[in-house]
Amino acid sequence: MIPVNQPFLGSPELNNVKECIKSGWISSKGRFISRFEEEFARFCGLKYGITTTSGTTALHLALVALDIGAGDEVIIPDFTMIASAYAVIYTGARPVFVDSEQKTWNMDISQVEGLITRRTKAIMPVHIYGHPVDMDPLRILAHRYGLHIIEDAAESHGAEYKGKRCGSLGDIGAFSFYANKIITTGEGGMIVTDNRKIAQKARRIKDLAHSTQKRFLHTELGYNYRMTNMQAAVGLAQLGRIHESIRKKREIASLYRRNLEQITGIRLPEEEKWAMSVYWMYAFLVEKEFGMGREDLRRELSGEGIETRDFFVPMHKQPVIRKMFPSVKNKKYPVAERISKEGLYLPTGLALRKKDILSVCSALKRIKENIS
Ligand SMILES: *Cc1c(COP(=O)(O)O)cnc(C)c1O
Repeated sequence: MIPVNQPFLGSPELNNVKECIKSGWISSKGRFISRFEEEFARFCGLKYGITTTSGTTALHLALVALDIGAGDEVIIPDFTMIASAYAVIYTGARPVFVDSEQKTWNMDISQVEGLITRRTKAIMPVHIYGHPVDMDPLRILAHRYGLHIIEDAAESHGAEYKGKRCGSLGDIGAFSFYANKIITTGEGGMIVTDNRKIAQKARRIKDLAHSTQKRFLHTELGYNYRMTNMQAAVGLAQLGRIHESIRKKREIASLYRRNLEQITGIRLPEEEKWAMSVYWMYAFLVEKEFGMGREDLRRELSGEGIETRDFFVPMHKQPVIRKMFPSVKNKKYPVAERISKEGLYLPTGLALRKKDILSVCSALKRIKENIS
């Protein structure tokens, strides 16, 4: 089986973890935590990094640090991973969904202004599958209406928008280090920002919000979102190879593109002129002209020993969201709906070999030939 994703770890990770165990620094204090935070923030071009237990908790912490809560609204894409919506819901705020645009599958910026109300506090763009959102028009809107921007950069470590790294384009960037992300700590996350006040507040709140005057005295609600030194030890070693990992992702993408672009009926991902995508996952749409639906294609590929995944189920289709926010049932998100039915992604793991990619491509060509 060619797995859809496999993390790439080696002796730098192992040696760092060994040091934690030998030294006894296994909880959330220790030298790897602060180094990982500083170096990852610097990688993003920012001053402050605050580690968390996951990408989901990083998003939640970002929203709380910006005082977003009950009665507020946050604009997020309809087509995203459920954690983006959950984080908003945890704060008591309401997620307001925007449809996708055709080309990059990211939130359609042209529809955002029409969704802003008196209650809107923030916009949360998600750089889907490693391709940056068109941030300039969004930043103009945020400025005009006094809104915060929180980037969900869980899939886009190192991706660039007009030469600047994703995660550094709003008030706060949130990352995940789950095993299938571009760098991993097993489980884990981080928020990054240039704002010292926000950084201080986030750092306090993720550690139970101890009062600055007196330990064990608490004047605001805190959480335990502390990453362990062992996780940061893995993360720091992973950060040491991030340029290599991004190069590898882009190589995988260009090899797929070269071998698949002749096949009619599959719409390959495009990269905007202003974007440097990190192709977190190599995803495409199976259109009518292919002659076989997405589900059948996935079954055929699986028969050939190739693991794939289908696209996210849009937020307005999620039973949990329809139960909590029944009005989404009356709204239309045609692009998100279509791509979620037609989209799939291929093996894109960092441990993938060139011959695996080529055999995925020949399997796809074979399947296509057998249809007609
Ligand atoms: C992975 C992911 C998350 C959540 O990260 P976890 O570490 O799994 O909590 C959030 N948003 C997006 C877009 C993701 O892909």
